[in-house]
Formats: sequence, C-alpha cells, structure tokens
Amino acid sequence: MNRTSGVVVLCPGPIIDSCKGAGQPGGPELLGKFFTDVLAHEHFHAIFEEGMPRTGVVAPARSEAAALEEALAEWVELDLFRDDPQASAWIIEHATSGAYPTWPYAGALWLEVEARKNGTGTISTIIQEYRSDPLACCEALRRRRVLP
Ligand SMILES: [Zn+2]
Repeated sequence: MNRTSGVVVLCPGPIIDSCKGAGQPGGPELLGKFFTDVLAHEHFHAIFEEGMPRTGVVAPARSEAAALEEALAEWVELDLFRDDPQASAWIIEHATSGAYPTWPYAGALWLEVEARKNGTGTISTIIQEYRSDPLACCEALRRRRVLP
C-alpha cells in the first residue's frame, strides 16, 4: 500500500511464491484465499490513510503505533477467515512467528483475546481511537493490558 496515496498494488509473483513456500499444495482456491488475505490486510492500511472521516493523522514509521496498525491489519485477516480453518491456521502461524511489538503481527493475537472477551465491536472502537491519535491509543491499550 502506498502510504501517500492509499493505492494498493499487488504483485502476484511473491504471493504465489509465498504460497508455495508455505508448503501449501496450491490451486486456484488456495491462491484466491492468499490474494484475498493480502488484499484485506493492505486495504485496511489504505482505510487508515484514506478512510472517512479522513483524519490526516499518520503513525510515525517504526513506532509503537505503526506496530499496532500492523496488528490491527493482521486481526482483520483473522476476523475475515474466522470460519476457515486452513486460512486461520496460516494467519496464526504468521502471527506467532515472533513477539509483539518486534513482530507487530503478533499483536493480532492480543487483539483477538480482547475481541473474544468484549466482542468485535471493541476492535472498531480501537480503530477509531487509533485513527484519532495513534500514540495515545497505544498507551491506552498498554494501560488496559490489551497489548503487552
Ligand atoms: Zn501491513
């Protein structure tokens, strides 16, 4: 996703390679899920940049807030494929490849705990708070122990 325009561009080659690298057997259905997953993630970033109401607030790159944005984008993937065990397994495997915030995608699992405890609407609230003030949102989530 282009951070200045919100335009999402996908290069199919790396996605296909990633699919093969994950040891998946391939096929159109599998590739379709991979593309859908990546599109959901990247469009979520675009919504942060360009969504209505436009806030003009952008998290500093490599900040705690940028990590939270990645966690939220990964959580969107989890939510989208909630009823698909195969895709959910890939997303969880990806999310558990490191620890938050160094591996920002791991934050999706913390957000999932919050969503299961308080409903997915709580993630909508976090998104709104993030879009208003990303750093303050991170601080609030740490205080509430939603994130480590
Ligand atoms: Zn991302």
